[in-house]
Amino acid sequence: MNMITNHLPTKELQALDAAHHIHPFTAGAELAKKGARVITGARGVYLTDSDGNRILDAMAGLWCVNIGYGRDEIAEVAARQMRELPYYNTFFQTTHVPAIALAKKLAELVPGDLNHVFYAGSGSEANDTNIRLVRHYWAARGKPEKKVIISRKNAYHGSTVAAASLGGMAAMHAQGGLPIPDIHHIDEPNWYAQGGDQSPDAFGLERARQLERAIDELGEDRVAAFIAEPIQGAGGVIIPPDSYWPEIQRICDEREILLIADEVICGFGRTGNWFGSDTFSIRPDIMTIAKGLSSGYAPIGGSMVSDAVAQVIAEAGDFNHGYTYSGHPVSAAVALENLRILEEEAIIDTVRDDIAPYLREKWLQLADHPMVGEARIVGMVGSVALSPDKANRAPFATPPGTIGTICRDRCFANNLVMRHVGDRMIISPPLVLTRDDVDTLIERATRSIDEAYEQVKRKGLFTPA
Ligand SMILES: *Cc1c(COP(=O)(O)O)cnc(C)c1O
Repeated sequence: MNMITNHLPTKELQALDAAHHIHPFTAGAELAKKGARVITGARGVYLTDSDGNRILDAMAGLWCVNIGYGRDEIAEVAARQMRELPYYNTFFQTTHVPAIALAKKLAELVPGDLNHVFYAGSGSEANDTNIRLVRHYWAARGKPEKKVIISRKNAYHGSTVAAASLGGMAAMHAQGGLPIPDIHHIDEPNWYAQGGDQSPDAFGLERARQLERAIDELGEDRVAAFIAEPIQGAGGVIIPPDSYWPEIQRICDEREILLIADEVICGFGRTGNWFGSDTFSIRPDIMTIAKGLSSGYAPIGGSMVSDAVAQVIAEAGDFNHGYTYSGHPVSAAVALENLRILEEEAIIDTVRDDIAPYLREKWLQLADHPMVGEARIVGMVGSVALSPDKANRAPFATPPGTIGTICRDRCFANNLVMRHVGDRMIISPPLVLTRDDVDTLIERATRSIDEAYEQVKRKGLFTPA
């Protein structure tokens, strides 16, 4: 057996981590001083750390552990697949059973005629694929100049060069010379922060029509696709106004462009239906999937592609693209077992009919708190905006994220994983949360916001910008 052990003292683990491990999206020097929290195990919706704390994971890892932790069936399937066929590729006219079985299952589950999958190892890779796929598609149709992809500010589509370029995260673009050419960003449908005096619906229409204007300005003959998350996740769980998606769909129907729904978070039950596209009546040509596809038990992602697009790609000769781990047999087998569990245990039905409404009722009550400007939730993904002046939806005078960090640290101290994005607090818990777990989540969240509020007032930071 190898030497992985959870039994070194926490301080030693933290010192080794600081010495040798560069963390994603982390200020390394700052973390090294503090020491990273060491997670040693997990069951259901609870994590255990190296100090023996039991932490309610209201983020499902990184929005992915939809079925919860510790499902033995998945471990069994992975072990069996590793013994049977641990690896083979799907390049050069070969295939294998897990890749086939998962492709068939996905074609059944995904809405519309998105009956074809191109496998990737992650959501980022799948979005890289999407860029090449849509450009190749239009080139194959004799329109090689159609290659601009329209996306949105504050979108998250992954962390590779291409996926981060598609994304609209200013802090990511600021490092490493992004975005790549021919990606165009329009504004996000963030009514709370940017809607001013407009009604949410009027604002939603205006933001959707930016897509129409962008197509006109760039030229329809140059635009390949529009990509968006049904609900912006990493951007702060920004739930668009009701008017937004129908108008986007109208524009995509009228114009000759492809619609890519990035369902990496919204897919596989997160919004209370199988896909965010079901919840918002979106009819995409391409859908990005990852995260909940395997509930995070193994890395896998993919692009679901419509019959029409797949046919053009198939007839255009070699698609010179692929990953060593496209359709990895262990990941595919794990994903298939995850989908079986989601389906046979009716987890998404339970979410839709019972747990999500229960959570919603309690979550929305957080809006009564003196430091909460709004509380929003769809299915099992929600957010609250912290504000020093609720009536005006005002931001704090402190740099964005200052108050969010204070609140996040209180959550940590109260054994709750709730993230902050700027000064928004966000949750995306496992779908298998029980009513008791919901009560615990709300109780810890409320206590954490209360404690943050006291601290913010004490430090004289409860002032609007
Ligand atoms: C997480 C995420 C990605 C990237 O997925 P990775 O597996 O981290 O590469 C892409 N799109 C959305 C909407 C995501 O939330």
